[in-house]
Amino acid sequence: MNPFGDELNRRLAALREQKLFRELRRVDSASGPRLEIGGRTFLNFSANDYLGLANHPALKAAAIRAVEKFGAGAGASRLICGSLAPFHELEESLAVFKQTEAALTFSTGYATAVGTITALLGKDDVIILDKLVHASIVDAAKLSGAKIRVFAHNDLDDLEAKLKWANLAKAESGKRKTEILVVTESIFSMDGDAAPLREMVALKEKYGALLMVDEAHATGVTGENGRGLASELGIGNRIEIQMGTLGKALGASGGYICGSRALVDFLVNRARSFIFSTAPVPAAAAAAAAGIQIAQSAEGENRRSQLRQHLAEFQLATGNRQSTITGAIVPLILGDEERAVAAAAKLREQNIFVPAIRYPTVARGAARLRLTFSAAHSPADIAELVRALKTLD
Ligand SMILES: *Cc1c(COP(=O)(O)O)cnc(C)c1O
Repeated sequence: MNPFGDELNRRLAALREQKLFRELRRVDSASGPRLEIGGRTFLNFSANDYLGLANHPALKAAAIRAVEKFGAGAGASRLICGSLAPFHELEESLAVFKQTEAALTFSTGYATAVGTITALLGKDDVIILDKLVHASIVDAAKLSGAKIRVFAHNDLDDLEAKLKWANLAKAESGKRKTEILVVTESIFSMDGDAAPLREMVALKEKYGALLMVDEAHATGVTGENGRGLASELGIGNRIEIQMGTLGKALGASGGYICGSRALVDFLVNRARSFIFSTAPVPAAAAAAAAGIQIAQSAEGENRRSQLRQHLAEFQLATGNRQSTITGAIVPLILGDEERAVAAAAKLREQNIFVPAIRYPTVARGAARLRLTFSAAHSPADIAELVRALKTLD
């Protein structure tokens, strides 16, 4: 008799039945365009390492130097005695990179969203989310206790309707301190499309709301020096809360908030995922700082140009029009979960690694192959992918 185990097995069987069961695949090589899995080498089109920095010698050297000077672990949370120099250096370079007054880093992007949104909002406030924002933002919104409204993906009319409703609710409640926060991604993680940020800024200003933009998939990839989409559109200084991750194009790990000094000071005092968590390893901060340096250099510009060439090549060869391709993500939407799983398996047979993305990462019935490109790919890698995709039709 093991009722707990039986119940878990029953739930797992249901996931298998719906083709939603997931399992870990052990990778025996560094992150890069080629992965070694189960003794075989796969061409990898699934990483978020868009500039190919995760295994870059400069990031590795920075991490090693930080280990040698500051050790393997930080020893405590930032507010106790873990606020080691590499975190301060990283935050200074982030603020310069994003052209904001200040920056604060967290152990992950997930912890960034949860800590920031729950620090800023409570039950008297309203949070308005794009339908496709990342799970970390959805979880943060729920945990904050604020009233949640969701607008159709990138739909400005629907956003305006939600803002009108929130403003009316605020007027009726008589609570002058009610905050209305709109949250979007700049380039969406699973669809690769861009938010209409300029129009969103105008709307949130019209209704006296705040805006938080998650640039996880744009930082390092778009805009001058890879500063992201807000910078590219020249509206960075009109977005109160700029969020992003250090584990994607920047090649390391962690999350950040860029904004005013007051915002950062407030989060240091109120963001629970920052306060009640041991500081990240100093090596991660040093590697991220090296990643930011490369993103802003001539080498970074070369890498972005390579990435754009790969995307253009792919579009030309496949006639793919599904994505506007502003970043490095191309979704091939197949719909049915089983079809997506079968397509991924067929690519794996040809030594190409592209996992099937399914519910709950995307909506049920919107399963897809999510292709991601990297500056570290070669033109021959792109040709090989195109050839393999043709076998799926
Ligand atoms: C990856 C991601 C996160 C979470 O960042 P981690 O550092 O991986 O925890 C948050 N938001 C978006 C849009 C992401 O793609």
